[in-house]
Amino acid sequence: MKPATETIRHRLLTWYRREKRDLPWRRTRDPYRIWVSEVMLQQTQVDTVIPYYHRFLSAFPDPATLADAPQAAVLKLWEGLGYYARARHLHRAMGIVMARHGGRIPDEWDAFRALPGVGDYIAAAVLSIAFGRPYAVVDGNVKRVLARLLCIDLPVNVPKHHADFRQHADHLLDHAAPSAFNQALMEIGALICRPAGPRCNGCPLMGHCCAFTRRQVDAYPRKQARAKVPRHPMAIAVMRRRGKLLLTQRPEKGLLGGLWEFPNARRIDAETPEAACRRLAREQLGLQITPRMTVTRVRHAYTHFQVQAEVLLCDAPRGRVRLDGPSAFRWVAPPDLDGFALPKLVHKLLPALFTALKSTPA
Ligand code: SF4
Repeated sequence: MKPATETIRHRLLTWYRREKRDLPWRRTRDPYRIWVSEVMLQQTQVDTVIPYYHRFLSAFPDPATLADAPQAAVLKLWEGLGYYARARHLHRAMGIVMARHGGRIPDEWDAFRALPGVGDYIAAAVLSIAFGRPYAVVDGNVKRVLARLLCIDLPVNVPKHHADFRQHADHLLDHAAPSAFNQALMEIGALICRPAGPRCNGCPLMGHCCAFTRRQVDAYPRKQARAKVPRHPMAIAVMRRRGKLLLTQRPEKGLLGGLWEFPNARRIDAETPEAACRRLAREQLGLQITPRMTVTRVRHAYTHFQVQAEVLLCDAPRGRVRLDGPSAFRWVAPPDLDGFALPKLVHKLLPALFTALKSTPA
């Protein structure tokens, strides 16, 4: 083993023991709690996760309660965190933990990795942090630190190079303390070796850092330019009948699966929002509707596209709903919308909708 590698480990662990943040999931070795935290932390900032983590675990304190819960209750507690497939997978995984593993979370790679929603990152994180298994975690923070520390010239955002970063992480991993080592590398990426303005002067790795020594910190990590994210024009039809609004549920699989929303569709070519609302009502619900007013315009960014949606309040006085696309529907009084798990885009339009409903009585 190279002495430099040992020194890096030692410095990193010493720094971590002194400087680590006191986070709720660091006060436990319970693999279930650590798993929940790691799933929430994928794609979401620590400060946002903390209140969700507490609420989720007070409702579902162990695998059995989560496995027994209806999916709607799980999604409701996940509402606002985004990437809802994470919640659905975790829910399904807990069903399997109860049915096939006797309620015990497996501590072996193959068995744990086979559970829904468990990829290499979650498997390495949970198995190392909860069980002390020697698997290196590789997330965005880790890749950035490694790229700078070792002057790795590969772009961090190209999936085919992930295995190269993994090799470096595996080589550096401290097998005597994989839990603390993995958390230390992620923590230094979050607090010191930040994406912009890394605090090299406070960094325990400075003396061993290739990018710092070469005065090339700004050149790492390398990134490949991404294609421009497309923006889709949408129409959202808030359909009203006798004071109630029509909510539809998205199919289980796919983006925002299982969440509730107002019926919506991409606008085709030069279609007006009114025409798009009439068409989607006809095609998705078998209803004839009359658009009455524009409520607002909302924008929202997903990972691979953005939407700009015109929101229209529409009268839907009669007709039986025949679904083609959504998996379920409900006519809901406005105060009861809160009982449904709604995507962020819907939350964005609600204030304007409530104002419009007051000004245009049914
Ligand atoms: S010295 Fe600077 S660039 Fe190098 S690992 Fe530390 S913070 Fe990152």
